[in-house]
Order: sequence, then structure tokens, then C-alpha cells
Amino acid sequence: MPQRPDFVPPTESSMHVGSVVGIVVGGVFIVLLIFGILWKRGLLGQKKTLEDVLKGVDLQTGKFTFKQLKDATSNFDKANKIGEGGFGSVYKGVLANGTVIAVKQLSSKSKQGNREFVNEISMISALQHPHLVRLHGCCIEGNQLLLVYEYLENNSVAHALFREKESHLKLDWPTRHKICIGTARGLAYLHEESRLKVVHRDIKATNVLLNKNLNPKISDFGLAKLDEEDNTHISTRIAGTYGYMAPEYAMRGYLTDKADVYSFGILVLEIVSGRNNTTYRKKEESFYLLDWARLLKDQGNLMDLVDPRLGSDFNKEEMIVEINVALLCCNVTSTARPTMSSVVSMLEGKTVVHESVSNPNAESIKIDAMRKHFQSSFGRGMDEKQIEMGSTEGPWTASSASAHDLYPVNPDSDYWENRSERN
Ligand code: ATP
Repeated sequence: MPQRPDFVPPTESSMHVGSVVGIVVGGVFIVLLIFGILWKRGLLGQKKTLEDVLKGVDLQTGKFTFKQLKDATSNFDKANKIGEGGFGSVYKGVLANGTVIAVKQLSSKSKQGNREFVNEISMISALQHPHLVRLHGCCIEGNQLLLVYEYLENNSVAHALFREKESHLKLDWPTRHKICIGTARGLAYLHEESRLKVVHRDIKATNVLLNKNLNPKISDFGLAKLDEEDNTHISTRIAGTYGYMAPEYAMRGYLTDKADVYSFGILVLEIVSGRNNTTYRKKEESFYLLDWARLLKDQGNLMDLVDPRLGSDFNKEEMIVEINVALLCCNVTSTARPTMSSVVSMLEGKTVVHESVSNPNAESIKIDAMRKHFQSSFGRGMDEKQIEMGSTEGPWTASSASAHDLYPVNPDSDYWENRSERN
């Protein structure tokens, strides 16, 4: 083939530039391809929306649109706000078909985060019992996530017991007894009867709601954890509420259903006494209701624990059973605590209560200081501190909790001086 006169054969350097460009372009292409594949497989840690997170969750529950809930709550009007929990605000609403609902909206500032929220949805949707708050469904739109519950007309046990001035309710003894038995039944279902064995992990007076007939229903499964057969019972992330947590769970992260039994025991002591387990005080001034109850038992003055608002209007036998069951539930040794089904049976008077061993340290607690403490703490509000630990080593951090405000001290201070005469 004849050569063109203007043909310049490629020099060594221009060949070199060409191959470098080719290699760079090819390299960039391959890198982009790899990134593309990783991205598509979700391996690059790109931020997933809640909608994405929930794709794998078998919700088994109704779905609501954001508009439906906006309409139901009059655009989340302040007037419809019924509470504020660790996750965010709770609103009352009415659906187009007239159903009254409670809508829990995940706050973007929520410290508890989305993992618990997703947990809560999958958990509650599978669990149905007359003593568990019913989940009607949820709304997931982009990063908006709301839970829609049945509405309970009479707020929480904490509200009725510790917010005397705000609550119109006066819980008489039969009602308190019914609340204890109902809550125990709900827990027995969670621990022993449901398909999934669930440890609630945050049983407390604000998490027991009351319907119009004052029947109790357990709420807030946000912290619930599946009690899987093969787990080690060592929780890497401890979460619960200060004052209600079983010692082995609070200190070692050892989680079994007996942690709920302990919290239930504290709740019963609160229901019986009308007092918060801990009142907001400097740590060195604080006493626990449980210590007080143990001390009174050791002294044979169990009736001193009874809420003065009940007067003498209670069934003494039932009262003694309840206090003894509560003390049994709060045994320091988790294995010595009863199962919730046996708690139900004891509270219903079907089996006898095997008395718990008294606390050897109780005697060393100064009774006068304790009496004074509970005397002045009566009528004060809730001061729960929710705690979360990133690991079993801590450090512990206080977070959330809805109502930490304190309430005026009840002036009825003569009560404690005179009450022993009643027994
Ligand atoms: P925390 O999140 O710290 O455990 P909490 O249990 O009070 O606190 P939420 O479960 O979010 O938090 O509830 C906040 C408040 O909203 C409750 O104390 C109660 O007064 C009200 N509330 C929640 N759910 C319902 C419901 N289904 N019906 C009526 N009121 C409700």
C-alpha cells in the first residue's frame, strides 16, 4: 500500500499518552461500575429511609396515609396532644369512620431512634390480648413514621396515682386490685402464652394505660426484645427506667422475663401505696419504696404501706397478698421470683403466697429518716429517669422520660405520725 506523503508515523511519546488516557478512562469506568454495583446492593452505607428499613418487616397490620392521620388529628393540633414520651408526641385523633385513635409520632430528635420503633411495630402487630394496647396500624411515608393505637380514655396508672390534682380519677381498692391482676395477665401472655416470647423491659406506671372501664392495658413495646430460645440472655444494650430495673439487668445486662417480674413488683408497691418508687431527691437523701416495704414487713407493720387515700376501705386479706406478692417479685435473686402465671394465680387467691426471705440489710436502714422521706414525698409527681446504656460497661446516661416535673408536697404530714394507730 503506497504511503501518503503527509503521513507521520506515531512517535514513542504520543503512543505513551494514548495508552495512559486509555488506562485512566478504563480504570475510572471500572471503579464507577464497582461503586454502582455496591450502591445497588446497599453495601455503601447510603442512608436508608424508614420506608426502606421497614420493607423487611412483616407488619401484619393496617396502613394509614399521612393525610388520613393529619385529618384525624386536625393537623396534629396542640389541643389534641395527649402526651410526650421518649419517642415523641402522642396525639388523640378521630378517623373518618369515627374510630378514636392515639397517634404516636416519631420525633426526629428521638434519642431512642428508629431501631426500637421498627421493633415496636413488628412486635405489637403480632401480639393481641385484652391487657395489651392494640396497634391498629402505622403510617410510613418517606421518613415519617407514626403508630396508630387504640385510644385509652383514662390515661395511665401513673397519671391517676401520682397526679392527683390533674386526674379526675380516684382509684378505689377493687379497681387497684383489678389493675394489678390485669397487668399480671398481660405479662403472663407476653412471657408464657404468646407465640413470640417477649420481655417488655420497661414495665412502669406510665406504661399501664386505663380504658373507660379502668381496665389496664400494657403499652410501649418500644424497648421490647424477643426472648429467643438460643440467646445468651446477655443484652448488649440496656434500656429501662430507673427505679424499676431488676438489679441483675441494671448491673450486668442479664435479661430474662424475671426482669419484668421485678418491675411488676415495684409497680404493685406503687399501686398499693399510691407513692412513686423514688422521689426526686439528691441521691444520698433517696430511699426506695421497696426498702420501705421490706422494712415494714420485717417490723410486722405492713399496713403502714397502704395509700392513705384508701382510708380503711380495702380488703385487708387481698392487700396482704398483694404486698407479699410484690415483695416476692422483687426478690434480689431472679430465679426466686415467681413466673407471671403464678403471680396471677396468687393475686386471684387460687394459690398461697410463699413468703419471700426478708432483706438482711433492712435493719440497718434508719427508720426515722425513711419515714420522714416518705412522709414528705407523698403527693409528689413522677420523676422517672429513663436510662440507656450503649454497652454493659456504661456510662449511663439519662434520657427522655415524659413527665419529670415535681408536684407540691401534700400538707397532710400528720398522717405518718398517726397511721400506726390504725393498725
Ligand atoms: P416513655 O416513652 O418514656 O416510656 P411514656 O410511656 O409516657 O414514656 P408514650 O408511650 O409515648 O410515653 O406515651 C406518652 C403519654 O401519651 C402516656 O403517658 C399517655 O398519657 C399517652 N398515651 C400513650 N398512648 C396512649 C393511648 N393509646 N391512649 C391514650 N393515651 C395514650
